[in-house]
Amino acid sequence: MEPEQGDRVRVITDSAVYEGTLMPGITDHIIIKLSNGYNVGVARDAQIELIEKRPPISQKPVEAEETIEQGWRDDLPTVAILSTGGTIASRVDYRTGAVTSQFTAEDILNAIPELREIANYRSRVVRNILSENMRAEYWIELARAVAEEINNGADGVIITHGTDTLGYTASALSFMIKTPVPIVLVGSQRSSDRPSSDSAMNAICAASVAVSDIAEVCVVMHGSTSDDYCLIHRGTRVRKMHTSRRDAFQSIGAAPIGRIEYPTCEITTFDDYVRRGEREPELHDEMEPKCALLKYIPGASPELLRFCSLSGYKGIVIEGTGLGHVSSDWIPLIEFTTSRGIPVVITSQCLHGRICDRVYDTGRDMLKAGVIEAEDMLSEVALVKLMWLLGQRLGYEEVCAAMKENIAGEISESSGYGTVNHL
Ligand code: GLU
Repeated sequence: MEPEQGDRVRVITDSAVYEGTLMPGITDHIIIKLSNGYNVGVARDAQIELIEKRPPISQKPVEAEETIEQGWRDDLPTVAILSTGGTIASRVDYRTGAVTSQFTAEDILNAIPELREIANYRSRVVRNILSENMRAEYWIELARAVAEEINNGADGVIITHGTDTLGYTASALSFMIKTPVPIVLVGSQRSSDRPSSDSAMNAICAASVAVSDIAEVCVVMHGSTSDDYCLIHRGTRVRKMHTSRRDAFQSIGAAPIGRIEYPTCEITTFDDYVRRGEREPELHDEMEPKCALLKYIPGASPELLRFCSLSGYKGIVIEGTGLGHVSSDWIPLIEFTTSRGIPVVITSQCLHGRICDRVYDTGRDMLKAGVIEAEDMLSEVALVKLMWLLGQRLGYEEVCAAMKENIAGEISESSGYGTVNHL
């Protein structure tokens, strides 16, 4: 019988023998997924033998209704899993070679049975996208879905999300929702078909945080390259710092809220946090999507600012150099922008430390032109905060003042030395 995609096969070439799963191939090559997760391609004329037929793949609708797991236990809390797409709890579809998400509560529990010991689950699909396709309009949908779950009695919420823009979504939700229960965003850097996958451990730790006392929007991801603990990052402080490492997520400018050991799921906290039930739920889901984040580079044209002001941008964040600078030829254009009632916020490319435009002449001139110093906020968090404040329909002066006030842990009183060169 001719092997088909998804079958386990042995491929014999003049120099090597490979065993693995047959993937969709390009015309002149056979592609095999090896057990270590990597793919090899060999010329089509190699000898190929069938070892085992592929298991049947169930057809799942792309947009599943809310699903409730079977085997509900009255002694466990209830966690809502909202999925937005991404690699977590996904599998490889051997017909297409694509990584597809598992949507129903039952799918997720079948993939990660340890979750059953932690809570009862209901799940629903909010979006099925790669997170580079996330946008402010979807944050609004997601925030409403989270609020609905909380109002319907969820003891915690897990949001599965692609890792690329997970930090942006975490920060958007941190501003949009005041929560009495944990809201935990989780992703995975490696899909579940790979032996080095982080999806099961991240999901188990996320579920344990979702039933904990930490009633904040947080991100739970691997804390080290081993499978020994996850970190619990505050939603406004977290950044993806590596393209592929499993411990890619770090808290910047503040300690993580805590860590959770694996597999014991014991939580140690490093920072104060809002406790379960301390707040009433509140949803402020308006966002102004038309805001820009410009990165200043040496010699960058200030005309970028004119373009933004004249093409309807409502707010601008400039990621400047050092303490928060741009070249002096940007200053007249900053004034041009702020005089039109468009807030201009300055952050730093340094990642660590606080903006201070009172030290050098450029900075003082920037302040005179109306820039708002973003204190020690991450640039993308300043952008999301600006979108959110503008969405609340505040006046120009109120937006400027609120940008400098701490709302959701995004600004610290003292930024310390940071954790530069910690790797
Ligand atoms: N670019 C994809 C995303 O962020 C990568 C997959 C993943 O990280 O989950 O959605």
